[in-house]
Amino acid sequence: MDTDCLFCRIVAGEIPATIVRETATTLAFRDIDPKAPTHVLVIPKEHYADVATLAQGDPGLAGEVLAAAAVVAEDEGLLADGFRLMFNTGPNAGQEVFHVHAHVFGGAPLGPMLCR
Ligand code: 5GP
Ligand code: ZN
Repeated sequence: MDTDCLFCRIVAGEIPATIVRETATTLAFRDIDPKAPTHVLVIPKEHYADVATLAQGDPGLAGEVLAAAAVVAEDEGLLADGFRLMFNTGPNAGQEVFHVHAHVFGGAPLGPMLCR
């Protein structure tokens, strides 16, 4: 655990979060400032800074995060109308929390893939 990391502190139970799914290796919780009707963050419990570091360091765990995100999408009722899965990575993507997290967005049409 990285004691300076917000999401490690959520994993440790030091900061409250609305948890929607937990496995031995992953945690999913609602974003504190939702950008869509459904906005859930899915993380590995182990600290990796971003998706590239995770995929290179532990591809199996990366797959578990992906699988957890798919179950969250199903549990949230997003499969019929669709959803968006997003990993902001680094400054050009505006990553703010450096503990890898998949954003699961859904519940309404999500607009274009990128603003221009
Ligand atoms: P990023 O920009 O790094 O891809 O996304 C970080 C996300 O974390 C943002 O959508 C932000 O609203 C969310 N967030 C920041 N602090 C907290 C928090 O303390 N709790 C929860 N549940 N979400 C947070
Ligand atoms: Zn962390």
